[in-house]
Amino acid sequence: MIAPRPTLYLNNHHGHTSCCEGCEDGEDASTSGSECGSPCTSHPSGTGTSEANGPFAKPVDQERIARAVREILFAIGEDPDREGIVDTPKRVAKAYAEIFRGLREDVSTHLARTFEQASDELITVTNINFFSTCEHHLLPFHGQAHLAYVPGNGRVVGLSKLARTVEVFARRPQLQERLTDQIADALVEHLDAAGAVVMVEGEHMCMKMRGVRSHDARMTTFARRGIFRTDERRGAETVQLVRDLASRPRC
Ligand SMILES: [Zn+2]
Repeated sequence: MIAPRPTLYLNNHHGHTSCCEGCEDGEDASTSGSECGSPCTSHPSGTGTSEANGPFAKPVDQERIARAVREILFAIGEDPDREGIVDTPKRVAKAYAEIFRGLREDVSTHLARTFEQASDELITVTNINFFSTCEHHLLPFHGQAHLAYVPGNGRVVGLSKLARTVEVFARRPQLQERLTDQIADALVEHLDAAGAVVMVEGEHMCMKMRGVRSHDARMTTFARRGIFRTDERRGAETVQLVRDLASRPRC
């Protein structure tokens, strides 16, 4: 039987960072100066609308990535010309182009195709898998996103478009808190949702592989928008519903 995992619950509308939780409590002092010397909580919240996180017009410069990766291999004491890794810089460049392609995608292209459904009832989609990359260490974090929204103008969007929305934001250098906020903001902005609740559960390799090596830590972040913020009771009930749906056994 698998032991239950401790869960970090951060009701997070204010931009606490995720991956550096571990840095604050026990990271190797030799690295904390460069990576975590500035307080992680100083990052601005909801920076997803800034240009730095919006779609870029220029293609990924794979040659530049490859040159940098070759330098990294030198720096760690490897021989980049060794047979087994001679093509690694090119492979990494290609992989980065894929895992960061969300920087070049505009979520509105997915959420623009709505269809009429005269309803103001809650719609939930849970257990959307995602893979993302922590912007502090460029190490993966992955997990599941769970969404709930109330249509605002009698228009809803297809299930696959919601999964695409999660993917667009996940495939960027990211913080779990920002990812959660960006998904919620997109539902309100592009679907005119009267309210939205987003819950994201993530496991961060930068906590598992390095630093505190907290193998079982899992972070849970929430974002509430619209009526789920103005109506505290309805917001709390919907968060609980999303949590219940997310944790129910699969059929
Ligand atoms: Zn990290």
